[in-house]
Amino acid sequence: AKKVKSDIEIAQEAVLKPIKEIAEQLNLQENEWEPYGHYKAKISLDVMNRLQTKADGKVILVTSINPTPAGEGKSTVTVGLGQALNKIGHKAIVAIREPSLGPTMGIKGGACGGGYSQVMPMEDINLHFTGDFHAITAANNALSALIDNHIHQGNECNIDPRRITWKRVVDLNDRALRQVVVGLGGPLQGVPREDGFNITVASEIMAILCLAKDLQDLKEKLSRIVIGYNYQKQPVTVKDLGVQGALTLLLKEAIKPNLVQTLENTPALVHGGPFANIAHGCNSVIATKLAAKLADYVVTEAGFGADLGAEKFFNIKSRLGNIDPQAVVIVATIRALKMHGGMAKENLAEENIEALKNGMANLQKHIETIQSFGLPFVIAINRFITDTDKEINFIEKWCQDRKYEVALSDVWAKGGEGGIDLAVKLLKVMDQEKSRFRPLYDLNQSIEEKIETIAQKVYGAKGVEFTPAAKKQLQEYKTFGWDKLPVCMAKTQYSLSDDPTKLGRPEGFTITVRELRPSIGAGFIVALTGDVMTMPGLPKKPAALNMDVDENGRAIGLF
Ligand code: ADP
Repeated sequence: AKKVKSDIEIAQEAVLKPIKEIAEQLNLQENEWEPYGHYKAKISLDVMNRLQTKADGKVILVTSINPTPAGEGKSTVTVGLGQALNKIGHKAIVAIREPSLGPTMGIKGGACGGGYSQVMPMEDINLHFTGDFHAITAANNALSALIDNHIHQGNECNIDPRRITWKRVVDLNDRALRQVVVGLGGPLQGVPREDGFNITVASEIMAILCLAKDLQDLKEKLSRIVIGYNYQKQPVTVKDLGVQGALTLLLKEAIKPNLVQTLENTPALVHGGPFANIAHGCNSVIATKLAAKLADYVVTEAGFGADLGAEKFFNIKSRLGNIDPQAVVIVATIRALKMHGGMAKENLAEENIEALKNGMANLQKHIETIQSFGLPFVIAINRFITDTDKEINFIEKWCQDRKYEVALSDVWAKGGEGGIDLAVKLLKVMDQEKSRFRPLYDLNQSIEEKIETIAQKVYGAKGVEFTPAAKKQLQEYKTFGWDKLPVCMAKTQYSLSDDPTKLGRPEGFTITVRELRPSIGAGFIVALTGDVMTMPGLPKKPAALNMDVDENGRAIGLF
């Protein structure tokens, strides 16, 4: 058998164009972009002003069924579809998130796509890239330092150190930092209090950067961050501390989208990367909107399955960012469908039509979800070497019987060429059926009603239960005037329910909301179900064990 090349081996053989050529391809003017080395650039936000009156390109969202822990290949299909659209003569841009170092050193692998559908230079993108996440980390921790100093210097805002909700961050998986005590060592070292670390991608500042429209909006959103409560149990904000200017200053470069290219020189904007649980899991609004000005098609993705990523892309990102999505690609793998049909993880490489048949229920639910948002869609089967013809035929027949458009995506093995069928079918669907996009709920509904709508319509739940603590918060949030915001659900990605072991299409279940968290700066209320990790740990054998660098500075073992 032919040896399958690793992502980094393919990446290191790539012939990239100087970034100037990619910028020229997009008709960017000389002063509208700034090189960061040979193959990366930041784009000035002024471009939006110049192109204000230009019609927007069509935004296509790539989402998936509930994934296996290895991922369904959304990023891979996103990049591959962008390449395919270019191959058949269209102007398309890929817009995806920046990877976090936590998962990179830990378990999942990178987030640049895979095989022959990757964004480049993947080494840089997977490591420090253009420093955006470091800037976000610095802004987040500057706020922490300013809070502690405020208390140390007399605590004019009357902040209750026991009720500070703002945490420090680091962009690593570091479970030892989940709970810490700061300010130990006597009066000169500040006021002792309990604190903790989140991973940078779980910082509210990450979500804010990704939802901001421009620098001014970024500043306003930062000023609204609630850092905790005072002794009267009233919220204390960044504005109360007067530091929104400083925080915005730290982010003035990070807010600019990063331009790179795919293995086939398709332009890509890789910008921002909020977690898909505690936050909304999409690349920045600025990058998506800019991409829509620069090309006819924008292919973008949202984290996890359609129950989390797509729901938030529509109800939060598209609504707050004024984005009008036109179509959806639902990625499914035969492996994951078989898992939803009851097959054990170890056996997924074996043919099993019965399990596949049972697992289709999971895909069916996500299709209904996309339909409820009023969007045309295509199903993409992300092809794995282990898929058999019989299994592929089964899915194609299943789709034909229901009049769903389906394409086999071979972009991992073949790049854009392997995505032409998908691209052609997508364009056909978009031509035949116009988007009637609308969010699922109205912002004026109560927080309970919004959560119930999502649980029933998107998860297929019977109902929602709120713990006494959550009920109390619902009351408080109303008195603070926070009840008109969209809801950001934090739920396991493995199941439609809040129980990761319930695969397929569970029915008759109840979702339990145990806590709410205000992300007032970002502009949403987080509803926590199940255990939600805001600082992951490393696995027994972290990916870091395979990493190295040779004497010439070339990365080894970066997937
Ligand atoms: P997601 O975006 O859904 O999390 P990714 O696109 O990041 O998934 O893919 C996860 C991993 O699976 C990557 O390492 C990628 O190289 C690999 N992968 C994706 N599609 C395929 C495929 N068809 N065959 C083999 N490996 C694949």
